[in-house]
Amino acid sequence: MTIPHKKLLLLPGDGIGPEVMAQARRVIDFLSQSGVATFEITTDLVGGASIEAFGAPITDAVIAKARAADAVLFGAVGGPQWDREPFDNRPEIAILELRKQLGLFANLRPAPVFEALIEASPLKADLVRGLDLMIVREATGGIYFGEPRGIETLPDGSKRGINTEIYTTAEIIRVGRVAFDLARQRDKRLTSVEKANVMESGLLWRETITALAAEYPDVALNHMYADNCAMQLARNPRQFDVIVTSNLFGDLLSDLASMLTGSLGMLGSATLGATLPNGKRHALYEPIHGSAPDIAGKDKANPLAQILSLAMLLRTSLHLPDAATQVETAVAAALNAGYRTADIAEVGAKSVSTTAMGDAVIAALVVGATK
Ligand code: NAD
Repeated sequence: MTIPHKKLLLLPGDGIGPEVMAQARRVIDFLSQSGVATFEITTDLVGGASIEAFGAPITDAVIAKARAADAVLFGAVGGPQWDREPFDNRPEIAILELRKQLGLFANLRPAPVFEALIEASPLKADLVRGLDLMIVREATGGIYFGEPRGIETLPDGSKRGINTEIYTTAEIIRVGRVAFDLARQRDKRLTSVEKANVMESGLLWRETITALAAEYPDVALNHMYADNCAMQLARNPRQFDVIVTSNLFGDLLSDLASMLTGSLGMLGSATLGATLPNGKRHALYEPIHGSAPDIAGKDKANPLAQILSLAMLLRTSLHLPDAATQVETAVAAALNAGYRTADIAEVGAKSVSTTAMGDAVIAALVVGATK
């Protein structure tokens, strides 16, 4: 059997980014040593760290490395030191630039509930036990980018703010395909979410997704208005498998869904591009949390969101589903063994450091490998 060879670009960023990335790196090294794949790893600067070194949140050289990689694992960027940077030179521009340059348009946000953390969910345990939903959010179109936009002064001196929701059939089809393909690998159920009752762009969304469903007869499709979806996520979240929606609704619904799991420090995400003619698909994986300047440098951050982002990367970009499951199982085992960083510990309970949580995941990987 030939061992696959994979190129990864690691971009730790700022604040807790390098601390949590160091733990993900240990997991990559473990997988490499156990013969899952050989990894060619490059690490580089983004965000505030890149502003300090090069005056810009991301350089052309880093974008070129991202393009050449099989996948990019991103930490987090930002911090109060760079709050005075002009808007177009802020650390967060690094993510926007990577999305733009690599054509990353589909944001995947899973919301898995780990049994050991079930009490951390604000919902009753019975409602979220076993929850495993995935939100696919269109990330480069819609109302955040549509023209016309701006603030106009009217003849009477008052003002008017304008944003425009625009979706083309092509944009809906490409994000729809990502969602249908994912549903196919999961429980084969897809919910398409819009406001077709009051928005023409929503009506086109519904018609286009309905037409696309003909190519996926094995996936059960239903449609839901976004306001109802918000209500259903709080009322009975387990009814969902994959949800596909626009940039605006996805922004709101994915934050709501992440709270069902109880902690920011546990959630990974992915942003994918289209499959290119050479079969390659650009992709970036990152935790949903930020750089947490309040705890940076203290070895307190929860590294599990970064490690679970790596698991998504292994499954989706490197096509190593067994390795992905191995990592997810090790995370669950560390939690089941009682390890908690401060963010997921019960009030007053003892918590472990970032490094100790990494140790626990590696120990569980070792145990899993010998079974
Ligand atoms: P944040 O996610 O960094 O932190 C919010 C709270 O959650 C903080 O109390 C923090 O300590 C805690 N937290 C976050 N991740 C944690 C982890 N892994 N373990 C334990 N606790 C964790 O959000 P914020 O405070 O609004 O933003 C801080 C900086 O991060 C800002 O500069 C912001 O612009 C940036 N940011 C970056 C990204 C990104 O890189 N994708 C996303 C959001 C915010």
